[in-house]
Amino acid sequence: MKPLIILEDDRFIWETELNEFVPNRIFDAHTHFYDTRLMSKADHEKYAFMQACPRVGLAELRQLSAMIFPNRELHSLASGMPRRSTDLAATDAMVGEQVTMDPLSIGLMLAHPRLSRAEVEKQLDRTGLHGFKPYMCFSTSPDPSQSTILEMLPEYYWQIANDRALIILLHMGRHASLADPVNQRDIRKLCERYPGARLQLAHCARCFTSQIAETGLPTVADLPNVHVDTSAVCETEVFHILLDVWPRERILFGTDNCVAGLMRGKYAGFGKGWYGIFDSNTTAFQAPHVPFPPTFVAYENLRALRMAVRRKGWGKSEIEDLFWNNAQRILFRVG
Ligand SMILES: [Zn+2]
Repeated sequence: MKPLIILEDDRFIWETELNEFVPNRIFDAHTHFYDTRLMSKADHEKYAFMQACPRVGLAELRQLSAMIFPNRELHSLASGMPRRSTDLAATDAMVGEQVTMDPLSIGLMLAHPRLSRAEVEKQLDRTGLHGFKPYMCFSTSPDPSQSTILEMLPEYYWQIANDRALIILLHMGRHASLADPVNQRDIRKLCERYPGARLQLAHCARCFTSQIAETGLPTVADLPNVHVDTSAVCETEVFHILLDVWPRERILFGTDNCVAGLMRGKYAGFGKGWYGIFDSNTTAFQAPHVPFPPTFVAYENLRALRMAVRRKGWGKSEIEDLFWNNAQRILFRVG
């Protein structure tokens, strides 16, 4: 079984909507490497993709990316796959080793609150990684989905990030995400206290709905050491709001490959929240009135982003900033 099949309909969407929009050089600011041998069966067996592709490092990411973004040069910010069972030390070592093969890619270590300050520093030194990837599954909260930032990333991580000018890639917790005042207050407090840390708010600050974007994005947009990646968001209106209220030089393109960006389906706002509607088996998907199967989340994401960019009237240089220059300036800054 192949991990990725490109259908004629996918090619049509790429050729007619996306090919002209996506520049030749892409910095993908949100990617994951994994090795299924470094996590439990239960954690990887639920992904058909991982069954077909048991390990993704630099070469595999590039091969897969080249299938959906033909003829593009690609570099990335990568971290391991955060799952409760992930072997952290071995995964970080793999990510570190993979990114050293490409001087234009960098990696982050998985940040678990159980690691002591000394262990964190040692792991950074050992792997050469450029920052932290916390996640809800590692949180100390009794309800991980309601995790505060410090329950995922204790304050000593922020101190280290400040001292070493590291990147923190945060997929926020709490149901209301950035519309939650607890998250808004913590981001402000921590980013002002630790100006050397570079905070990347994943998925447009986890704004998968326009309601969360409208309430949340303006509250932290002024913080100079906070940027967002665009990965996996499929709602056009979220990008309209983002481009209206967020400084454009602090927006980085990302896919969340692998796996999220390569799933077929989309993340859609539902009620007060959102839901990922996926179909990993395209032959099983049945839409009542059209014969078309779903396409990749990465394509739905680019479609939404392109509409917002178009309405904003961005030209080639703004688009190249989004796909490349902003990441170079923010992520590769030394000191
Ligand atoms: Zn991710």
